[in-house]
Amino acid sequence: MAAGKGQGQWALGYREPLNPNERSKRDNDGLLVKQRIIDIYQHTGFDGIDPGDLRGRFRWFGLYTQRAQGIPGGRTAVLEPEELEDKFFMLRVRIDGGELTSEQLRVLGEISTTYGRDVADITDRQNVQYHWIRIEDVPTIWGKLEAVGLDTTEACGDTPRVMLSCPLEGVAADSVLDGGPVLRETAAKFVGDPAFSNLPRKFKTAISGCSQHCVNHEINDVSFVGVTGADGTAGFDLWVGGGLSTNPMFAQRLGAFVRPDEVADVWAGVCGIFRDYGYRRSRNHARLKFLIADWGPEKFREVLEREYLGHALPDGPAPEKSPSHRDHIGIIEQRDGQYAVGATTASGRTSGTALSRVAKLAESLGGGRIRTTAQQGLVILDVPAENAEAVADELETLGLSARPTKFHRGTIACTGIEFCKLALVETKGRAEIIRKELEQRMPDFDTPITINVNGCPNSCARFQTADIGFKGIVQKVKQDDGSFADAEAFQVHLGGQLGAEAAFGRKFRGLKVTAAEAPDYAERILNGYLDRRAEGESFAT
Ligand code: SF4
Repeated sequence: MAAGKGQGQWALGYREPLNPNERSKRDNDGLLVKQRIIDIYQHTGFDGIDPGDLRGRFRWFGLYTQRAQGIPGGRTAVLEPEELEDKFFMLRVRIDGGELTSEQLRVLGEISTTYGRDVADITDRQNVQYHWIRIEDVPTIWGKLEAVGLDTTEACGDTPRVMLSCPLEGVAADSVLDGGPVLRETAAKFVGDPAFSNLPRKFKTAISGCSQHCVNHEINDVSFVGVTGADGTAGFDLWVGGGLSTNPMFAQRLGAFVRPDEVADVWAGVCGIFRDYGYRRSRNHARLKFLIADWGPEKFREVLEREYLGHALPDGPAPEKSPSHRDHIGIIEQRDGQYAVGATTASGRTSGTALSRVAKLAESLGGGRIRTTAQQGLVILDVPAENAEAVADELETLGLSARPTKFHRGTIACTGIEFCKLALVETKGRAEIIRKELEQRMPDFDTPITINVNGCPNSCARFQTADIGFKGIVQKVKQDDGSFADAEAFQVHLGGQLGAEAAFGRKFRGLKVTAAEAPDYAERILNGYLDRRAEGESFAT
């Protein structure tokens, strides 16, 4: 679609809102809703909430209405919002860089057990997400979070969402540089800043010096990737315009080298271009990736330098090593000789009870620091060598494995039909069934593998970049009596990966499996790979 007139680009003078979301944002900034929750809605309860706040501005503080229990995926598109939702909320806590102290994690755990039926999800953007939250409890929850330096500001909405970083940032033995300080500076300066609270759509950031590239810089709106510049100085390579969903695009390098002290300004410049030039007519066309696709990286860099920074950035090198399978699971030596113990969850699901026990464990056997990961896991830092195995043992008892099978290590899932109003299928439970079946049937499987289970085409769990990506659909399935009925199913995407050979998974015509068939299907595909693979050949290639 052509850029310019008619796309609602503010910088070209088109300020008149072109859709209801844009009108809502113009009429009342999402950041203002917090005070209404405190002053009004906690007292009126769910039924007193203005619909524009309820299904729109609440997201600016991490609140989504929750899907009513038991509504099948086939009904998602035909029900009115009030029929689809119950009177509870999902609440997302932003954890920039995934950085937590044991005190913060203890509070996160206690909130889940007290207010969220002991459910806690670690998302693939390093957030903690609660379910079953009542509006009456939200101000109290915020108070508890704020007391330990956490909040839910701009955890959702058309805003700068949580900023990803490597869970080993600052301690990894093999990183290029520590991106933690610049991430903290950037988040402190701009999260909650009204200058960036009305973006065309969400804006995802990753800042990391990690040599494993575990923050997936290829699929964020803006990424700063640690590199060593021509003169030996460590800094960042700048990437822009990545994103998945229904029009997946990989981020593009601008070829510019960013010194650590310039990161916050460059971030504000990129985000400012998105705010000012981003497309605001159609929600489906509003992510930064569409502007980059139309402009190309050269024009984007030129506008950034000329209109937003006021000076040119030097050219810089590309990141050197970009593996396709990325995480920090297991017992890993830190650069200071202590150890990090990284563990998987059950496709992102854990509990407040488990989080509180991890907090205690980090205090008693580690140094009291924990990080969440972009693979829905968590890492306990600063563990003395003599305690590392004991930490791993203890994590196993909490359903968090530092010694996972290849399948457990590589399986993630989005929220799915259990709580998400957009979902077509159940995900976390399905993902665990697939993973456990494969563990049982293929105990000797020896290759890194990613299995990403998604409840709809929105790709919150990145089905296009997985070895085996499951995208939820509803399919008509023939019944015993010859009639047809809706059934949960998956469109399968195969061979997606990030890294040097980045490619989106291929969708083969007709390759759909019912949810019940998914473990059999995955086993067949993996056995086919084992039978035919050449020496050292990965699944994706
Ligand atoms: Fe919900 Fe779809 Fe995102 Fe899953 S991929 S969390 S079902 S919107």
